[in-house]
Amino acid sequence: MIKQNLHTHSVYCDGKDTIDQMVQTAIQKGFTILGFSGHGPCRYDEVAMKEEDLVSYRKEILAAKEKYKDQIQIYVGIEEDMTQRIPSKDPYDFVIGSKHFIQVKNQVKNVDYSQAMTDEITDLYGGDFLSYAKDYYEDLQKLAQFEEVDIVGHLDLLMKFNEDEHYLSFTDPAYLSYAQACIDVLVQAGKIFEINTGAISRGYRKHPYPHKSLLEYLFQKGGKIILNSDCHDCHMLDCHYAESLKQIRDIGFTSMMVLTPEGFKEAPIDQFGL
Ligand SMILES: [Zn+2]
Ligand SMILES: [Zn+2]
Repeated sequence: MIKQNLHTHSVYCDGKDTIDQMVQTAIQKGFTILGFSGHGPCRYDEVAMKEEDLVSYRKEILAAKEKYKDQIQIYVGIEEDMTQRIPSKDPYDFVIGSKHFIQVKNQVKNVDYSQAMTDEITDLYGGDFLSYAKDYYEDLQKLAQFEEVDIVGHLDLLMKFNEDEHYLSFTDPAYLSYAQACIDVLVQAGKIFEINTGAISRGYRKHPYPHKSLLEYLFQKGGKIILNSDCHDCHMLDCHYAESLKQIRDIGFTSMMVLTPEGFKEAPIDQFGL
């Protein structure tokens, strides 16, 4: 059986656990594949890793990979923000590309930060959340040209504080058309989409990213998917995995992607355990 998470933070950025603690928990929880994806250096993000930390970040993961090689497969990755691409993919087994910021009226605002910040962004759009969504997805689709990126991080992050749909309905037709246009371009580019349970573990959401309506669209379009917990706390390493796997199956997906020493491969859905 396969149990995988490729979206894992540690004390090198805003995670709570050391690399070693995280690996030990992964083994206890029956994971077979664990990839670390610290926040790549980003001028707008003070909790991101610093350029000078990257060598020891990678070294420590490689040491754990060797130490636990008989128990779990470990991979060195990075979560790169769209505002600051990594200079080279060479030191990494995989790259998650994420959009955490939006530029509006010459200001850079954090999409991920808080309800109050989401209000501020909406205000900068004159109260029009749909215009925000349009800009967000138009920018996100540029990830198609980021050849280093394997996985698109938390596709509809802008909806983080919209669990009660007070900004917008998840099935608003105009909203869906922007998101779907973005998905079309990213599927075409062969990107992998993560089902990300991170906001559930932190109490912001009851359902993973992306929303079911987008996941169904992704299925229709033949999009490749992966299940990730965007883990910042080892206790949450498989948070909402069982429920998400059920949802993925119910929608009709018959496979998910796994990282192997030879790169990403497709594996039948029934090989994924809990
Ligand atoms: Zn992220
Ligand atoms: Zn993350």
